[in-house]
Amino acid sequence: MVFSLAVICIAGCNPGTKKMEQELRAFIDSLELRVKPAESGAALAYFNAAVTGKDEEYEKSSQLNIQLSKIYADKNAFAKLKKFRDSSGIKDSLLVRQMNILYNNYLANQVDERKLEEIIKAQTRLEQRYSTFRAMVDGKKFTDNDLETILKNSVNTAELKKCWEASKQIGDTVAPDVINLVKMRNEIARELGFANYHDMSLRLSDQDPEQIEKLFDELDSLTRGTFAALKADMDIFLAKRCHVKPGELMPWHYQNRFFQEAPAIYNVNLDSYFADRDVVQLTRDFYAGIGLDISDILSKSDLYEKDGKYQHAFCTHIDRSGDVRVVCNVKANNQWMNTLLHEFGHGVYDRNIDMNQPYFLRTPAHTFTTEAIAMLFGRLSSNPYWLRDNAGISPEDAERISENVKNNLQLEQLVFSRWSQVMFRFEKSMYASPDQDLNKLWWDLVKKYQLLTKPAGRDHADWAAKIHIASYPCYYHNYQLGELLASQFQAYINIHVLRAGEYDMVSLSKNPEVGRFLHESVFTPGAKYQWNDMIRRATGEELTAKYYAGQFLGE
Ligand SMILES: [Zn+2]
Repeated sequence: MVFSLAVICIAGCNPGTKKMEQELRAFIDSLELRVKPAESGAALAYFNAAVTGKDEEYEKSSQLNIQLSKIYADKNAFAKLKKFRDSSGIKDSLLVRQMNILYNNYLANQVDERKLEEIIKAQTRLEQRYSTFRAMVDGKKFTDNDLETILKNSVNTAELKKCWEASKQIGDTVAPDVINLVKMRNEIARELGFANYHDMSLRLSDQDPEQIEKLFDELDSLTRGTFAALKADMDIFLAKRCHVKPGELMPWHYQNRFFQEAPAIYNVNLDSYFADRDVVQLTRDFYAGIGLDISDILSKSDLYEKDGKYQHAFCTHIDRSGDVRVVCNVKANNQWMNTLLHEFGHGVYDRNIDMNQPYFLRTPAHTFTTEAIAMLFGRLSSNPYWLRDNAGISPEDAERISENVKNNLQLEQLVFSRWSQVMFRFEKSMYASPDQDLNKLWWDLVKKYQLLTKPAGRDHADWAAKIHIASYPCYYHNYQLGELLASQFQAYINIHVLRAGEYDMVSLSKNPEVGRFLHESVFTPGAKYQWNDMIRRATGEELTAKYYAGQFLGE
């Protein structure tokens, strides 16, 4: 750090550079004055909308996002920024970083304002429909939690089928609007010179689409064989459980709406460890034990189910000044323990970014680096040593379940990895040609990567039942990158902080050194460094699949 400051000083001695840097600083300062209130207002309205389901909050959030995109649509400002960027007169590394981030923000908005506005409105309308939609089974309303519970626990094929189909009801209702939105997004991407919106999204978030696809190809070949073997095991288990032949297994037998989570084929009932626990308190205590206090985040969060409330979970940093909040629909089970640890992982990242650094750098280095931290912690809910240290299970019990739990963690990773292949490739192909038969594309991919059987004659927009396709476009691959990086951080912590073997299963609990490493090397810098630069500084290596493969595939 001292070294790079010295370099800046030498380069900064040029008077032309100094003047230009001063101008850029003034440009950024005045931009911050306009962006900050819109951004924090939109985040707050979105939080309130999610919690209450109220139209006026959705409307407010939408209006402020429109205002924000108008700020970045300013053609003169963009031209000015472009001049700074092309001049090579900006040497200060913090300024360069802000300039590059802002350049991408502006570029994404250099399109017809009316089109942008339409997109934002369409997106908000869709979000509200997903949030407030409740599936109907036999004339009765079911929440997502209700459906997941039945899919997970029932062994009655007729009931499973009914619930699975109900979980897809939203698909056909929203599909035409989603396709419309996809086309609108493509239109602006093409206007800006990108192949399509998928291509644009990745490039503007500092990812090379070809590199990402190569990584997914590599992961596909790394996971294919192990997954096929595990899938055969799953099929034998699930067929027996539901009293059908393995060849008769259908997507509703896999205990999850999308087969994105591992079915419980090993004898581990993690839910039983949480049934009478206060999972929120466990989350608070765990984070306190590693020196990362979450009390103030908890005090602002909204954690339990309500009518009309958003049914998923998220974490939001309202003002880039430490107002961090989490939305959950907590139940005392393993899934919500995992989700709490996950969301508060995002929370501690956001909360511990150095608030003294420039406003535009007060975010995680990349969306997938914050996913990595969230996943690193989320995984702990099914780690026997974490359960021993936090949820009161005995050391003997921890040992007894450790083999099954390890197998289960591997299964979870593989099931998720194959599912993320479906999502990544579906979105890539959908944005490349939205007029193709998307229902068919979806099932082709589900069959190829998840090895599931399509129900005979099924022709519904099952892809549109996945909220991410509509609301968080071209984002899903970041979860997989997050898993890779979570394993990389885990191996680094094992070796350098805990002095354990790189792939040992450890609880990470009650050791403030764990929190300190993450705080200093990952959280504090925020977006000061490009993501791969941050990863290299923190772990000594750029992003690699090596540790993920080592941890879960025995490579
Ligand atoms: Zn997350």
